[in-house]
Amino acid sequence: MPTETFEFQVEARQLLQLMIHSIYSNKDVFLRELVSNASDALDKLRLAALRDDALDADVSDLHIELEIDEEARTLTVRDNGIGMSYDEVGQLIGTIANSGTAEFLRELREAKDAAGAEGLIGQFGVGFYSGFMVADEVTLLTRRAGETKGTRWSSRGEGTYTLQEVDDAPQGTSVTLHLKPADSDNQLHDYTSVWKIKEIVKRYSDFITWPVKLVGEAAGEGDEPAEPETLNSMKALWARSRDEVSEDEYHELYKHISHDWRDPLETVQLQAEGTFEYQALLFVPSHAPHDLFTQNFQRGLQLYVKRVFIMDDCEALLPPYLRFVKGVVDAQDLSLNVSREILQQDRHILMMQRRLTKKVLASVKSMKADDAERYGTFWREFGAVLKEGLVTDSDNRDALLAVSSFATTHGEDEQVTLEQYAQRMPDEQEAVYYITGESRQSIDNSPHVEAFRERGIEVLLLTDPVDEVWVDVVGEFQGKRLQSIAKGEIDLGAQGDEKSEGEREKQAEEFAGLLGWMTEQLAEDVKEVRLSSRLTVSPACIVADADDLTPALENMYRAMGQ
Ligand code: ADP
Ligand code: MG
Repeated sequence: MPTETFEFQVEARQLLQLMIHSIYSNKDVFLRELVSNASDALDKLRLAALRDDALDADVSDLHIELEIDEEARTLTVRDNGIGMSYDEVGQLIGTIANSGTAEFLRELREAKDAAGAEGLIGQFGVGFYSGFMVADEVTLLTRRAGETKGTRWSSRGEGTYTLQEVDDAPQGTSVTLHLKPADSDNQLHDYTSVWKIKEIVKRYSDFITWPVKLVGEAAGEGDEPAEPETLNSMKALWARSRDEVSEDEYHELYKHISHDWRDPLETVQLQAEGTFEYQALLFVPSHAPHDLFTQNFQRGLQLYVKRVFIMDDCEALLPPYLRFVKGVVDAQDLSLNVSREILQQDRHILMMQRRLTKKVLASVKSMKADDAERYGTFWREFGAVLKEGLVTDSDNRDALLAVSSFATTHGEDEQVTLEQYAQRMPDEQEAVYYITGESRQSIDNSPHVEAFRERGIEVLLLTDPVDEVWVDVVGEFQGKRLQSIAKGEIDLGAQGDEKSEGEREKQAEEFAGLLGWMTEQLAEDVKEVRLSSRLTVSPACIVADADDLTPALENMYRAMGQ
């Protein structure tokens, strides 16, 4: 078959340009990305072989090899994993399917300068393409396990790549980087240095569960090459005690499993002993992924059984409202053949889910108590998701309320918990008042808030769609009902309304004619026009019936297709 030349998809081309001109200062991470891909490929092959007896693949000695050729200035990362078919190479390497990367590029177009772009690379990560930070040409040779023909892919990163079918490719994938000249000004290290490669693997990939071997060179003419040296310890970090593992090691594991290049906000470890033994290492990212609220968001943890990778995105281990949590769970007594369907109903998995949920919530609680700034970040990024738990997880409702905080009329930047609200409200106040809306600004200017502000009564300002729902489900806090100030009649009489009962009746008589006329005129749009003690500045406001859907909730149901 002839060599075919293809153009990179527009987005891919942009990304490659960025890599070639490599504004990202930490170039060493290219090796982490290639080793991470190789490790994924080995996991996939081991699983495929387990599921399909007929698969014609060699799984006897799965490993990753690094090979340096000083003279040719190449570095090769080789695995004998799942490999890719001809079509897959075109799809996976030639285009950008990952939605995170699409988002990355959108932001990149808006980033004005190199520093901005560098920050973005660190945020999104670019996987395979990061090879072009250190190489001016990349060649990939691959054969999918079970297939006979292989594929060679090659590119200088400049707009086109070539594909060619080959007859004699070994199973798996090898990626060969033709290295740019080392350049200390540009932080481009000499990646033909054995010492440098060892250091990078140790730093970024030590925990990889497959051996990463450095293929030795022959010491002299005619000598046998030295035995390959395994560079990584392969120690499962989740099985080690916390004081044996450095923060950096945890962070690198996080980056491998999440494909996020930033450090996580929080690391949570759990080692459960007893009849059903398991270890978990969970991470709260420092930023919410942009697709957290979309239908196809991939949630779930990595599941291992006795150190063997079983599946990605195992949803059964955490409830949907903790879908932003990443991590690994390694169970001792599950079958290696366990399927998603079985997991959904497994009693042990359910127990694990309960315990992991409590553990995550407990760590948020201590974050809130000990580190206000970090908790602030957490709540800004994930508060809207966590609040879904107030609706769906009645067992943990109290724990969730304890870490949920809300904007309030009592301070621009202040956020309060219901507990704090209740503590400072006057004894005679009958309810916890709140108002929902699309943004703080729209609520702040709403006529509903006026009377409350005038009287110094605190109102919670709720702006997430889920707020409409949880306030109804939770209903009350410490015996005080949660009351929307935009619904039904609110009697603020006891709280500083100066008008007497008599005065109000007199007013009502005086205005009866006008109100009747207005009700008639507006019959199409409103149920009733009545006098109100809520307003101080605005002449009128629209109030929903106590059991009506509010506009925001109507929007949310509509968006959900109901
Ligand atoms: P990510 O790893 O986040 O998916 P990458 O850019 O690192 O993104 O890789 C893109 C895709 O290319 C991978 O998802 C995988 O399907 C495929 N791929 C990359 N390297 C290998 C490899 N060594 N073996 C098999 N497939 C690979
Ligand atoms: Mg990758």
